[in-house]
Amino acid sequence: MNIPELFSLQLKNKFPQKNKSVGYRVDKLLKVRELLTKYDEDICEALNKDLGKAFSETRLTEILPTIGMINYACKKLHKWSKDKYFSTPVVFKGASSYIRYEAKGNVLVISPWNYPFQLALYPVLSSFMAANTTILKPSEFTPYTNTILEKIITEVFDQDEVAVVHGGIQESNELLDHPFDHVFFTGSTEVGKIIMNKASNHLASVGLELGGKSPVFIDENVNLKEVMKKISWGKLVNAGQTCVAPDYVITTSKNIAGVVSGFKEYVQNAYGKNPVQSEDYCHIITNRHALRLKELVDDAVSKGAKVECGGQIVGERVFEPTVLTGVTKEMKVMQEEIFGPILPLVEKESIEEAISFINSYDNALCSYVFTKNELVEKKFMNETISGGVTINDVLTNVANAKLPFGGAGKSGIGRYHGHEGFLEFSNMRSVMNKKMDLGTSYFYPPYTLKKSQHIVSLLQKLRSFL
Ligand code: NAD
Repeated sequence: MNIPELFSLQLKNKFPQKNKSVGYRVDKLLKVRELLTKYDEDICEALNKDLGKAFSETRLTEILPTIGMINYACKKLHKWSKDKYFSTPVVFKGASSYIRYEAKGNVLVISPWNYPFQLALYPVLSSFMAANTTILKPSEFTPYTNTILEKIITEVFDQDEVAVVHGGIQESNELLDHPFDHVFFTGSTEVGKIIMNKASNHLASVGLELGGKSPVFIDENVNLKEVMKKISWGKLVNAGQTCVAPDYVITTSKNIAGVVSGFKEYVQNAYGKNPVQSEDYCHIITNRHALRLKELVDDAVSKGAKVECGGQIVGERVFEPTVLTGVTKEMKVMQEEIFGPILPLVEKESIEEAISFINSYDNALCSYVFTKNELVEKKFMNETISGGVTINDVLTNVANAKLPFGGAGKSGIGRYHGHEGFLEFSNMRSVMNKKMDLGTSYFYPPYTLKKSQHIVSLLQKLRSFL
């Protein structure tokens, strides 16, 4: 079916879909969960072919969060979908006031290649649980994952409720020419601007889950070995192709040697003496993306940075775990989101210097601070802005299915995960039901002296409230 036909099919189903019961939606979510178990091996194989990702890493970072999301949604959907009542001002006596949570209507989800399974299915299921129709356009770089995604989706959903359109920029643009009610995009900040611009032609609301440079500050007096275990894991999972990966580390000159040795030790423990040969070490999505990483390292070295370890492409789409010291803001590696296994270390001698460095960049998607000092923690929280924070670890704020997830400013607009995932895709329709009208019309013109006095006395009451 071509895009215009598919869009009209879903448009026709907008109202029937909007009124599907919560029970119907929960049943379908559970059916998806069943298929995640049935096709567990196929999903892992697909991710292995697309990204060279280990089966265990796929289970941990793709399947597990999706099941967690389904479980939480199934438990809460009845509650979230209930009308929410508010008190009604006395001038509207006899009426009831409430929010009715309804579908936004026809939704488009555009997803990236880096966690191609969960970043497609998670928003699609969030949209479905809020009773929308949904078209998914996954990334063109992950053909194997897209095949299994489509298999699961077509086994559970009719085409007029959830459907997949394959393709790249051209297909995204063709889809965006249609008047969707909501567009949910996960990808780069640059493409996010294009999506928002195109969505504005139809004034579709947008959810933008974007990227950026997520900083880490490491204070002194922490256990550097333990800290570096966490940071190195967060940097190297999915070979650094994680939107919330620690992009760079800021720490004092005293800490630098320990940070470098902690990284090297983690690499050896996690991936062995020859990490690039480890089956547990994820590949880079394409050769072109690997070459971009090499260029970042070469540019940094040409401007005075030192490669402490790694720095090379080895074989097909594999990039060595890399640490750079002596980096400056003039280097490309400190200007773009890295999105690969390269960790630059920036030397700053105090939390104040670190904060002013962080604030010289756009707001990050996540930021991380390792400290035992409550004052440092408080200063970091009070004087920086990001979509999310983990204190004394990395990434884990995203792993809690109950916490909302999203960016701040240039790292994104809107939130999903948890209750916010339902709200992101819902139209909060405000309703005042005047079953009985006990006299609002009293305030209609003509404004007699008695009415005018009444209005003034109402105003006076409000002015002296509290
Ligand atoms: P991308 O922006 O290149 O592509 C994302 C999607 O947009 C793909 O489906 C692609 O086909 C489509 N697309 C690309 N260019 C387009 C254009 N000009 N017009 C219309 N559609 C277009 O992103 P990517 O390379 O797939 O993913 C990496 C980026 O995504 C990183 O910046 C990363 O930080 C970000 N990301 C963010 C999150 C998050 O949740 N905030 C999660 C994962 C990735």
